[in-house]
Amino acid sequence: MRLFGTNGIRGKVGENFTPDFLSKVGLAIGAYLPRGNNVVVGMDTRVSGEMVKNAVVSGLLASGVNVIDVGLAPTPAIQFYTKNHGDFGIAITASHNPPEFNGVKAIAGDGTELPREEEERIEKIFFSKSWRIVSWKDVGKYQKIEGANEEYIKGILSHVDVEKIRKRKFVVVVDCANGASCFTTPYLLERLGCRVISLNCHSDGTFPGHESEPKEENLQDLISVVGDVSADLGIAHDGDADRAIFVDDRGRFISGDKTLALVAREIVKNKGGKVVTPVSTSLIVEKVVKENGGEVVYTKVGAPIVARKMIEVGAVFGGEENGGMIFPEHQYCRDGAMTLAKILEIMAKSGKKLSEMIDALPRYYQKKISVSCSDDKKVKVLETLKEKLKDEKIDTVDGIKIWGENWWILIRPSGTEPIYRIYGEARDKEILDSLIEKYKRALEGTIASIS
Ligand code: MG
Repeated sequence: MRLFGTNGIRGKVGENFTPDFLSKVGLAIGAYLPRGNNVVVGMDTRVSGEMVKNAVVSGLLASGVNVIDVGLAPTPAIQFYTKNHGDFGIAITASHNPPEFNGVKAIAGDGTELPREEEERIEKIFFSKSWRIVSWKDVGKYQKIEGANEEYIKGILSHVDVEKIRKRKFVVVVDCANGASCFTTPYLLERLGCRVISLNCHSDGTFPGHESEPKEENLQDLISVVGDVSADLGIAHDGDADRAIFVDDRGRFISGDKTLALVAREIVKNKGGKVVTPVSTSLIVEKVVKENGGEVVYTKVGAPIVARKMIEVGAVFGGEENGGMIFPEHQYCRDGAMTLAKILEIMAKSGKKLSEMIDALPRYYQKKISVSCSDDKKVKVLETLKEKLKDEKIDTVDGIKIWGENWWILIRPSGTEPIYRIYGEARDKEILDSLIEKYKRALEGTIASIS
């Protein structure tokens, strides 16, 4: 049985997220930690935040660990505070999920997302109910602190050329989706000398502005305001602000792989080195990194996996194409506000507009399809397909990735649905369509051959 999903423990308030369940999550985490440890706890703007937090905190205190409550804060700010002041951290957030959801995300003492094997240790305690309820005099201490967001903003400012950015007096439209970035991003921009025009920048856990996933269809207001005021750029975060998505000065929604490539290029250009990204990332990243003397290291899909690989290989940068970028000089986790500061620094140093830099990137076509496959067949299908494709140039970091000249295809079982996904990218649209068709047939044939 599992408690943690790919991004913490997620649930619906009033259904599985009850005070009883959540205090047991607190008890399990409390028993996993040594007595007297300091746990940093913070939350996003969801209506249920206080309920969820207080239930988890109760379990922690009853286990004899101390709690430092940082209040409302983006996930990367909670991670930053944990790295600097805590032995462990918890972010009460469901990231971009609808408002009726909430979540409990576990953070290791170094600020990184907790690795899977440690989550398993917590799950073991949870399912066996091996709590550690301490006596009345050993109950943990609770402390509410102010200033975690300020410390986080200062951390970001220490890693960019503030004077250079301030001189440009950028006009920036920011859409916080009524989420946790309301407490940080507008103020960070102000410190960077920008004229800030804010949308959905008041904390409201019903998410009245739009759904908190920063997809193009949810960012229509941002796109039109950027055009109306002739802004230099628009920026949107997801609910817990570990990701950043941009709109350029021409009012165009920029997909996350392009900003990832842009930042990767600038970092490698200055320092060389390794860039870590999942196997599903666009070729644009590899192209620009290689051209500038760097190297790309591919991992399985998942931000914590990217972060750990970055530590292992001493990478200079890493990230995902959903707008989640990791800057090792700051911290080993996705950080939306740090991404924004870096993009502004790149614009300030180059003197170019965001649209010009985006248009200068190589262009590729992408496509994603799915093929039904029952969960019990998935492993066998993957093994059989690997054998079938062994004469091609393949890579099996996550699923099967087939490499060609200026194209790749990735065939990967979904972790949550009874399907296989086929992702593809190529320089030419017709070539991409025919490749997707070819591997779709190979996959369907393999699925049919397994009883
Ligand atoms: Mg998020």
